[in-house]
Amino acid sequence: MEFNVEIINNVKGFMDEEEGQHLFEIALAAIRTGYPCLEIGSYCGKSSIYLGTAVKENKGVLFSIDHHRGSEEQQPGEDYFDPELYDHRYSHIDTLPLFRQVLEKAGLEDTVIPIVGKSDVVARMWATPLSLVFIDGGHAFETAYTDYNCWVGHIIPGGYLLIHDIFKNPEEGGQAPFNVYQIARSSGLFKELPMVKTLGVLQRLQCGEIPEGLNQGKFIS
Ligand code: SAH
Ligand code: MG
Repeated sequence: MEFNVEIINNVKGFMDEEEGQHLFEIALAAIRTGYPCLEIGSYCGKSSIYLGTAVKENKGVLFSIDHHRGSEEQQPGEDYFDPELYDHRYSHIDTLPLFRQVLEKAGLEDTVIPIVGKSDVVARMWATPLSLVFIDGGHAFETAYTDYNCWVGHIIPGGYLLIHDIFKNPEEGGQAPFNVYQIARSSGLFKELPMVKTLGVLQRLQCGEIPEGLNQGKFIS
């Protein structure tokens, strides 16, 4: 099965095609483990289509968390504000109606489960092991770090941690996702896989697997 490019091209969002294709491929490998995938930052569903289409092939489930009130930079007056997503009745951003519409159009309603809430609140009572965690929520350091801290412990051995919007050069973009990526790398718990554009890909080591360079100070800063 391939994802529906026409639908994807018409969905508002922040997911590059090549990165999306990579999300799809990693999700295919992840879901074969028999454990669900989870993303933080649904917005209008662009990344959910890439991940969800792969998950659907194996009759799996993708949990997609968002409070649907938008990140700081998506608020009125900010750089990424989209007036079409503003609900004048309640005076706030609401991306949930469009997200649900996109899932319906993409045939993913029985695959992607929207969870409406703040990532750290959802995490409070979470107890299900995950084969993939994709962090693409708020980009303030506290938010990105909290997402990492809340969810990293649920990734199964061999499972994946993906982080979006990694800019090694501060002139190209905010540094919080990159800083969190560095923290994850230096934990010594992950194998680093090739990055695709701004998408960082780490794989949780298997039990008993020793990372390269562990005893040579590579992970000690
Ligand atoms: N993955 C999307 C883009 C996500 S934009 C795509 O492919 O287009 C970031 C989203 O994270 C916004 O919709 C915002 O509402 C959400 N968000 C920010 N901080 C959050 C938090 N603490 N908990 C849940 N969602 C959050
Ligand atoms: Mg992003």
